[in-house]
Amino acid sequence: MARIETGKKQKTCFLKVKCSGCGNEQIIFSAAATPIKCLACNQPLAKTGASRITPIAKVVKELW
Ligand SMILES: [Zn+2]
Repeated sequence: MARIETGKKQKTCFLKVKCSGCGNEQIIFSAAATPIKCLACNQPLAKTGASRITPIAKVVKELW
């Protein structure tokens, strides 16, 4: 099920986040170029950074 890789690099990945506003779980891309909003309530889930996003919502799981 969960594959843990040693020596993992901080490359792109998908993050499963849970919206703090409505509890909606959404999968977001770590290197997205635009800020990500909750599809259900429009609350921001992540903001963009230099090369990867900064999650605002709680990260439930990292999907590699
Ligand atoms: Zn929401």
